[in-house]
Amino acid sequence: MSNARFDAIDSALARPFVKVTPPSNKISDYFASRVFTNDTMRNYLTKDAFISVMAAIEGGKKIDRELADDVANAMKSWAIENGATSYTHWFQPLTGSTAQKHDTFFTPMDDSKGIEKFGGDTLIQQEPDGSSFPSGGLRVTFEARGYTAWDPSSPAFLLEVGGATTLCIPTIFISYTGEALDYKTPLLRALKYVNKSAVDVCHYFDKSIERVVPTLGWEQEYFLVDAALFTARPDLMATGRTLIGARPAKGQQLDDHYFGSIPERVHAFMLDFETEALKLGITVSTRHNEVAPGQYECAPVFSDANTAIDKNQLLMDIMEHVAVRHQLRVLFHEKPYAGVNGSGKHNNWSLATDTGNNLLSPSNNLRFLSFFVNTIKAVSVHSDLLRAAIASAGNDHRLGANEAPPAIISVFIGSTLSQVLDKVENAVGLDKNIEEIKKNVIESIPDIMLDNTDRNRTSPFAFTGNKFEVRAVGSTANCAATMLILNTIMAEQLKQFKTEVDALIEGGESQDAALLRIIRKYITESKHILFEGDNYSDEWAKEAEKRGLSNIKVTPYALDFLVTDAAKALLVGNGIYQERELMAHYEVLQENYLMKIDIESRVLEDMVISQVIPAAVRYQNELAGNVLSLKELELAESSYKAQLDLLKEVSKHLNKLKKGVDKMSKARTKAESKGHADVQAKAYCDTVKVLFDDIRNSADALERIIDDELWPLPKYRELLFIR
Ligand code: ADP
Ligand code: MG
Repeated sequence: MSNARFDAIDSALARPFVKVTPPSNKISDYFASRVFTNDTMRNYLTKDAFISVMAAIEGGKKIDRELADDVANAMKSWAIENGATSYTHWFQPLTGSTAQKHDTFFTPMDDSKGIEKFGGDTLIQQEPDGSSFPSGGLRVTFEARGYTAWDPSSPAFLLEVGGATTLCIPTIFISYTGEALDYKTPLLRALKYVNKSAVDVCHYFDKSIERVVPTLGWEQEYFLVDAALFTARPDLMATGRTLIGARPAKGQQLDDHYFGSIPERVHAFMLDFETEALKLGITVSTRHNEVAPGQYECAPVFSDANTAIDKNQLLMDIMEHVAVRHQLRVLFHEKPYAGVNGSGKHNNWSLATDTGNNLLSPSNNLRFLSFFVNTIKAVSVHSDLLRAAIASAGNDHRLGANEAPPAIISVFIGSTLSQVLDKVENAVGLDKNIEEIKKNVIESIPDIMLDNTDRNRTSPFAFTGNKFEVRAVGSTANCAATMLILNTIMAEQLKQFKTEVDALIEGGESQDAALLRIIRKYITESKHILFEGDNYSDEWAKEAEKRGLSNIKVTPYALDFLVTDAAKALLVGNGIYQERELMAHYEVLQENYLMKIDIESRVLEDMVISQVIPAAVRYQNELAGNVLSLKELELAESSYKAQLDLLKEVSKHLNKLKKGVDKMSKARTKAESKGHADVQAKAYCDTVKVLFDDIRNSADALERIIDDELWPLPKYRELLFIR
């Protein structure tokens, strides 16, 4: 009898090596060749049109119809010259991935001829039949369709999949009634808000600064697995993670994978997707093995947050496509395998000025200290919102599992900056000694550039030299979820800062004294969020509780932080969301969670009933037959005792397994019947998901004892080590 597992292993071992040849050995020859960059646009537009478009993009202004026609024409010519036959609006619905609907340029005139058409109206707006994208009830109640609208601040690009080339136009996705149904819309609003607040604060120091843009450099972790092994695992296929699977004798204990040499087949895959990425202007610059076997990471050079997010979404798409060429599958799930590390997506974040300065780059002045301390204060006031931003079913497996930062948000700043803050806080005679404090405390700041070594890898929010790094973001996440919250809380905080500083200045204080006084006040008010120790330790969980920091370990409860009165005041009050949008987003995220758990539960049940139990029964039969025949031969009981014990063991786990699955099935039916998405999500979390572990334990116990030849699912050792 054939066994799917052994067939898969055979295929995986017989893979031919796919040789990859980049178009040139000089990356600069093809870098961004598939992006409608400003330079490219310049070649296709009149000088006046180009200047108007750039002014509109940089000033965030509307582009009128006539200009849109010019840009559309330019894009069309460029795209067709480069092999494109169709175009699509490319957007980021709340499902977490990207979406597109292709239309051809070709428009028939009559039955014998036609032309390639693409006008400003189609560039600006399109109506995908988006009625099945999650909308949190928005469209159900109001209008069944949404539309997409061009985001000129992110460049169009050409995507090549399966031999077809398509012009992709980054867009936002909104309902007919005008509410955002995506991540990009609130993100763009948050970027605008932080620009305004940061520029205002910058003006204390430099009046020539006109624009502040958040920067983002993400680091993407992922696993690779052979396509055949992947396909033989219904759980990987349907949920992206293994729901059962006994720990292998060798996992990551030896730490021999981390930064080790990259297997040849994987290397070819990396070279392939990097080449595609580079053509699309994604500057993937580092690649290495990660901690777990089969785990890798790539990172680009950072850029402005909006395009960095688009590029991350795009790269994940590309990686999935390219993997197919190499008979591999990419796993972006936060925790594909129990017992080995999961995957995250560090978000390195800072604020850059149009004058070329990084506002979080340590320097011996009050400007750095203002932005640095305001970041800490923002996180201390709104840590719960940040927690909500990183919440997802997948990430629940990582946060607090001693491999990723815990669900407790805290900030790490390193010893030197801690000392600086202490000195500022304790400086006496602030009014008289401004110059002295500046000289002794502030002017010693650049030294910390030498102190980047003691990075605390366990912190969820760490200062790493000239930027903060949000380490708790999940590997599947759209970075926009975190970026829109982080930039909003920073914007709010900077606005508050300015109000307080201005009040002191109006009261007669010098600007420096006013800045220092408020900075000092913020240091005192936000100290409780700073933590330099081991975030994975139990002591920290206890200490954090004393400090009043939340420790919410599961998504449906963490998401509640998005809709508290305080969150609404912040997010709705500053126009990041309309109230209905916020509620809809919240509902979509809860729905997403409950559907994921529902699918996992169903897949787990299927696998147990149709794969694990039959294999166990076969082994049971074998053992029973053996015991019977030995008995018939009238041999002593000692000759079949081991078999009999095993048989009892198998029966015990089998019974537990069946009972467990039945119980879960009942719990699921009950959870399904609960009303609102958030109530349902909590029911799934508290009554269904909690049963997974027991079921898994019985299945894994069976995997360990039954005949290897009978086990139908690729085992961990195969999934993790065959490449
Ligand atoms: P790690 O030690 O965390 O692996 P890496 O050096 O691999 O650090 O990654 C650092 C990331 O931070 C890179 O993606 C880099 O582009 C990004 N980065 C560097 N400077 C900034 C900045 N000013 N703003 C945002 N991201 C930045
Ligand atoms: Mg990092």
